[in-house]
Amino acid sequence: MVAEILQMLRDRVRPGVTTLELDRLAEKQCVKWKARPAFKGYGGFPFTICASPNEQVVHGFPNQKNLVEGEILSVDFGLIFDGFYGDSAVTIPVGNIDQKTQNLLEITQQSLECGIAKALPGGHLSDISNAVQTHVEKNGYTVVREFVGHGIGRQLHEDPQIPNYGPPGKGPKLKAGMTIAIEPMVNLGMSGVKILEDGWTAVTVDGQLSAHFEHTIAITENGPEILTRLEN
Ligand code: MG
Ligand code: MG
Repeated sequence: MVAEILQMLRDRVRPGVTTLELDRLAEKQCVKWKARPAFKGYGGFPFTICASPNEQVVHGFPNQKNLVEGEILSVDFGLIFDGFYGDSAVTIPVGNIDQKTQNLLEITQQSLECGIAKALPGGHLSDISNAVQTHVEKNGYTVVREFVGHGIGRQLHEDPQIPNYGPPGKGPKLKAGMTIAIEPMVNLGMSGVKILEDGWTAVTVDGQLSAHFEHTIAITENGPEILTRLEN
């Protein structure tokens, strides 16, 4: 359901659309499926989706501004259904974007895939963190350190926290049956972030672009299984 709603939003993104429209669309679909948006009311967050354009890293508020050709929009969305949470994020191009921006999106998505590939029984949690960081930095970008991935299941955010940086071989041992959300946030420039006056919106300190991709996955004996992807 999370994957389908994110796909629906992705299909809707184009110049002239507002992020508030996307928010309403996601909420309407939740109601239709009798699912509950995971973020609305969580710690006081007022919307169904987080909509974070351009230099916004995460936790942006949907608003009535028109999206503009060449921008990027990170959409983070989660819901609870039948007692379990799903959580996923994607950074979407608005119309045509330049090559530099496209590359940031590709490397960020690849870094998520690198992290997922290390979600193996018998491995350590920080193997995931290290794989993400290595891929990002190899390509000249920086990882955000203030926000992390997390365990997920009957709660939206469960232990353990999953940073997107650090040496391999540390932290809890990974076991089949664990469900986690891996979510690299990758900056074009400096890694630092600051929070805007609304108390939520995180932006890059240098105003440069940031991208965010996230999947909820299950660790199985046969390796990682992505739970928030349509082609499963
Ligand atoms: Mg999320
Ligand atoms: Mg998450």
